[in-house]
Amino acid sequence: MFPVVVVHGGSGDIPKERSRQSTEGVCSAARAGYAVLRGGGSSMDAVVEVVSQLENNPAFNAGCGSVLNVKGEVEMDAIVMDGKTLGSGAVSAVCHIANPIQLARLVMDKTSHACLTSEGASLFARSMGVPEVPPESLITEYSRMRWRKNLAPGSNPVECQMGKMGTVGAVAVDGEGNMACATSTGGMLNKMEGRVGDTPCIGSGGYADNQLGAVSTTGHGEAIMKVTLARLILFYMEQGQSVEAASDSGLAYMKSRVGGLGGVVSVDPRGHWAARFSSLQMAWAAAQKDTVHYGLHTGEHFTQSIDDPL
Ligand code: ASP
Repeated sequence: MFPVVVVHGGSGDIPKERSRQSTEGVCSAARAGYAVLRGGGSSMDAVVEVVSQLENNPAFNAGCGSVLNVKGEVEMDAIVMDGKTLGSGAVSAVCHIANPIQLARLVMDKTSHACLTSEGASLFARSMGVPEVPPESLITEYSRMRWRKNLAPGSNPVECQMGKMGTVGAVAVDGEGNMACATSTGGMLNKMEGRVGDTPCIGSGGYADNQLGAVSTTGHGEAIMKVTLARLILFYMEQGQSVEAASDSGLAYMKSRVGGLGGVVSVDPRGHWAARFSSLQMAWAAAQKDTVHYGLHTGEHFTQSIDDPL
C-alpha cells in the first residue's frame, strides 16, 4: 500500500484566465499533503494541511476567496472525518475564521459534537484560542464583482454561476492504512443567508471509513445531500465496484435522479484513487509514489515528478 493524497479544487465551469491558478493551486497543495505523509504524518494531518493551503489561496471558493451570500457576506462550511474512529467534526456558516477546516478538526478533537454553527462556532473558536479575522479580509475583488453581477437586474443566474468552482477537498491514506477526508467551501454564489450546504453534512460533503475508503465531494450541495453522495460512493465500493467505477456510479445516479452535477476525489483502503466529475471541469491533483498526477478537463491526465519544480 502506497500512501496517497488526492485533492480537488471544486467542480464547475472555470473561466480560462483562472484555469492555470486552479491547476497550480491543487498541485502545490497535493505536494504539501504528500510531504506530510512522507514525513510520517497521519492522513488527517495531510488533508488538513492540503485544505488549509487552499483556503489561504484566494483562487478558491474556501477561506479567503469564498463566494458571497445574497447580503454580500462570507459564510463558510467545512468538515473532516477520520476513517479509523469514524469521528468527524464540522462547522457551518462561520465568518470570522481564516481556516474553517482547522476549526472543524478542533470540533472533532475537543468536543463531543459533530457540528457547530455560526455564533456557537465562533464562541468555540475563541475558547480554543483560534484567532478571529475581519470578515472583509476573506473577500476578494473577484468575489465582490461576481456578487454584484448576480444582483444586477436582468442578470442570468446560470451565467453568473460561471467560474463558481472552487470548493476544496482532499482524501488521503497514510503509511498505517488510516484514511481521512476534508472539505471546505464558501458555498453557492448569492446563497440565502444561513444556507448550509452539503459540505459540513457527514456522508454528503465527505466520508471516511478505513474499511471502505474515503471521499470528498463538490458540486450542487442541495443535489449532493439528496443522494448523500460520499456515502453512496462508498456503498458502491462496498458492493465490489472499483474506486473509479463507484465514483462514476455515484455521480451518474445524482445526475439521473436529481439532475445534479458535481465531482469527487476518492480512495480505497489499498491506495487506489480516483478523481471524477460530471461537471464541465474540476481541478484535481493526486500524489503517490513520488509522482504528481493532475488534470482539469474531462479525460485530462498529466504527470510530473515530485522533484520537478512546479
Ligand atoms: N458543494 C458546495 C455547496 O453546495 C459548492 C461546491 O462544491 O461548489 O455548498
